[in-house]
Amino acid sequence: MLKPNIYLFPQLDDNYGYLIKNPHATEGILVDPSDLKMCLKILELNDCKATHILLTHHHDDHIAAVQDLKNKFQSIVVGYENDKNIPQPDLKVKDEEIFEIHQNKFKVIHTPGHTLQHINYFMPDCNILFSGDTLFSIGCGRMFEGTPEVFWKSLSKIKQLPEETTIYCGHEYTLSNVKFALSIYPDNQDLQKYAHWVEQQEKEHRPTIPTKLVDQIKCNPFLQCDHEHFQKLYKSTDPIEVFGQMRKAKDNF
Ligand SMILES: [Zn+2]
Repeated sequence: MLKPNIYLFPQLDDNYGYLIKNPHATEGILVDPSDLKMCLKILELNDCKATHILLTHHHDDHIAAVQDLKNKFQSIVVGYENDKNIPQPDLKVKDEEIFEIHQNKFKVIHTPGHTLQHINYFMPDCNILFSGDTLFSIGCGRMFEGTPEVFWKSLSKIKQLPEETTIYCGHEYTLSNVKFALSIYPDNQDLQKYAHWVEQQEKEHRPTIPTKLVDQIKCNPFLQCDHEHFQKLYKSTDPIEVFGQMRKAKDNF
């Protein structure tokens, strides 16, 4: 089976962009390009051009380089059909739609919460997820447009993916996420172990991304709003209510 290489590269202050490229190919797919210089560098290093661009949502730090890349490579832009604020997509996709680029399959998952038209891209053949600003390592995106109800539902969809799924998200926020997570669940031993690894990575200036879904399920409090510990902490058995309170607490942390 075809397994593409995923190249992570830093953009702007703390964003990540991704290049998806089949072995030996000269054509690649960029995810959420915002930093033109870094995009051109990763393409050059890997000897390929950006035939396609996948967009998760409309924020500037995920789309700023789209027009320049399009001018240079005539890239085909893929985006959610209902997102009016992303650069006009050439390929408009819907929730649960499966499409194929360079023999790689992608499934669209509508994940409102951070923005209302946010989508994730899941590659079912290799269990890879591009989660944009929906799920971060040990955290989740800020709730700019959604409600706790839609955001929790979106995270629950991600939780349903195969445990071995590898997650590539939009930002390197893991260290501050870990500090918050430990403050609300200090006794979580999996989280303690993960926090140690995160600190080591940061010390050595290495990314903490990608991450595995199985680790997020064990350690990420935002995926555990139905867990007894948080039900007690936030005095509610309703995961939506728990999520709302947890998100607010993180905003003020
Ligand atoms: Zn965003």
